Amino acid sequence: MAENISPIIGIDLGTSNSAVTCFSQGQPQLINGAQGERLTPSVVGLDDMGNVLVGEAAKARLVSHPHLSIASFKRYMGTDKTFTLGDRQFRAEELSALVLRKLKADAEVALGCSVTRAAITVPAYFNDSQRKAVKAAGQLAGLEVERLLNEPTAASLAYGLADNNEQKFLVFDLGGGTFDVSIVDMFEGVIEVRASSGDAWLGGDDFTEAIRQWMMTLYPVLPSDNPTLLAELTYLAEDLKYQLSIQDLALAQLTYAGQEFSWELSSELFSECCSGLLSRLKKPVVQALQDAQFDANELDHVILVGGATRMPIVRQLATRMFGRFPRNELNPDEVVALGAGIQAGLIAEDRALDDIVLTDVMPYSLGIEVARRHGEKIEEGYFSPLIERNAFVPVSIVESFSTLHDNQSRIDIAVYQGEARRVSDNLLLDSMSISVPQRKAGEVSVDVRFTYTLDGILEVQCNISGEAATSTMIVEKAPGSLSPQEIAERLKQLDSLKQHPRDVPANRQLLAEAGLRYEQTLGERRQMIDHYTGLFEQALNRQDTRAIVTARDVLRQVLDQLDDGM
Ligand code: ADP
Ligand code: MG
Repeated sequence: MAENISPIIGIDLGTSNSAVTCFSQGQPQLINGAQGERLTPSVVGLDDMGNVLVGEAAKARLVSHPHLSIASFKRYMGTDKTFTLGDRQFRAEELSALVLRKLKADAEVALGCSVTRAAITVPAYFNDSQRKAVKAAGQLAGLEVERLLNEPTAASLAYGLADNNEQKFLVFDLGGGTFDVSIVDMFEGVIEVRASSGDAWLGGDDFTEAIRQWMMTLYPVLPSDNPTLLAELTYLAEDLKYQLSIQDLALAQLTYAGQEFSWELSSELFSECCSGLLSRLKKPVVQALQDAQFDANELDHVILVGGATRMPIVRQLATRMFGRFPRNELNPDEVVALGAGIQAGLIAEDRALDDIVLTDVMPYSLGIEVARRHGEKIEEGYFSPLIERNAFVPVSIVESFSTLHDNQSRIDIAVYQGEARRVSDNLLLDSMSISVPQRKAGEVSVDVRFTYTLDGILEVQCNISGEAATSTMIVEKAPGSLSPQEIAERLKQLDSLKQHPRDVPANRQLLAEAGLRYEQTLGERRQMIDHYTGLFEQALNRQDTRAIVTARDVLRQVLDQLDDGM
């Protein structure tokens, strides 16, 4: 690690709880708060004097002082919703910033120095504006957000995904108010979230609520509109839930209006009270597997994340659903923060981790404007996408375009973002004009290459065939956030992606081998080689890294099988 550089912290900014970590001695380490707390409830409130409270102190007043406490604001990141606290209005990112500021302060005490850089986790399904809001929250808290990291990716890092090539994980994350299922895959050193699904309104707090309802039905004399009583019952219900995570029978007692009330809840009864909630956990799992086109048997591990997976009834359900024991050696509510700490170490260029590339999914398509010839007529204004929505980032794609007019002297490259067929309905990002040798229409062709980095930098390179010179244009998603040097560095890292997959030696070799075997064989075998070679060629032409790897493996297998059978 370079000297004199401020340490980077990892942060899990959760809907219910947040946590902070750092990377030291080759390991991510959880940083405790001033009161020794592992987690900081993501709750902000005001005390009776009007002072801002963050964390445990604010959570304690959540039910008793609902007008002076706000929780679960993460759901509203990236929206214009405002929350009123006393006589002030807050946006979700301002509330998040207060939580981040507390975590930053805890880290500064623990590390004994000022902390200004962080890696923060976000749900895999967060869109661009939600991610921007998290970055803005970081900035408000005085933190430079070096990287946003998907929560399931962080969980997989914590479980050592980075230590092995080729692994598939299902991350089952049941937090306080949200349920997220993600399928994470590592191949050739690239970690990807292949699919994510979930239920935005299902979490551990619903189990507490189910217990509270059960408590009330047992004693109908208890009024349901007394806030203090409600707060007390919620507290007791949560306590019963926690007890059942370590024993089979839980007890609670309450004195109200001079009367004694008591409850005895068994695991079995709890399971019955929550049967509806438990069955809602199944659908997102099936959906995620379907979207990723994976079979549950292909998964190397199922990992449990989120405090609510401490409930034995949830663990049992997961074990039954997957026919195996899920991984849970790490504290489920710390896993994401630990992964963020690994990411922090990665950014600090700690040697132990420098081979990992993290990917993201492209939120929209990027392409250029093209004209089309309809007989004699030329119609302008069509969108030709180069990088398509949902492509894995980082990515580099090249396509060829040719001149439309005789003696055309320039080609305009106008870069658009969007999904519409006509560029007028998309967003113009930037454009450039390059001069081309004057020839007959169609005789001059230009290779246009789009390279998109994890930081949201788009590099457009145009190369007239037969000429050495390349014209380059850089389009930034968040202009000014990186220096020209940093941009150059980020793009340099992607140089290896810029070779057309057809030209990658391993691919060329396999094609040559397949061609040779085609010549040597006859009949059905020959057809089979032809078929799988075709699929491989198609994938190469599409420059789709994932499809290439899959098609390559299949073709390899087909050739090997033919060898065995001979
Ligand atoms: P989030 O990721 O949504 O911020 P967490 O992962 O911290 O939240 O999970 C919080 C939820 O986990 C709460 O509903 C809490 O009651 C529940 N929880 C935490 N510990 C336990 C436990 N020991 N037994 C049962 N539930 C627990
Ligand atoms: Mg969480």
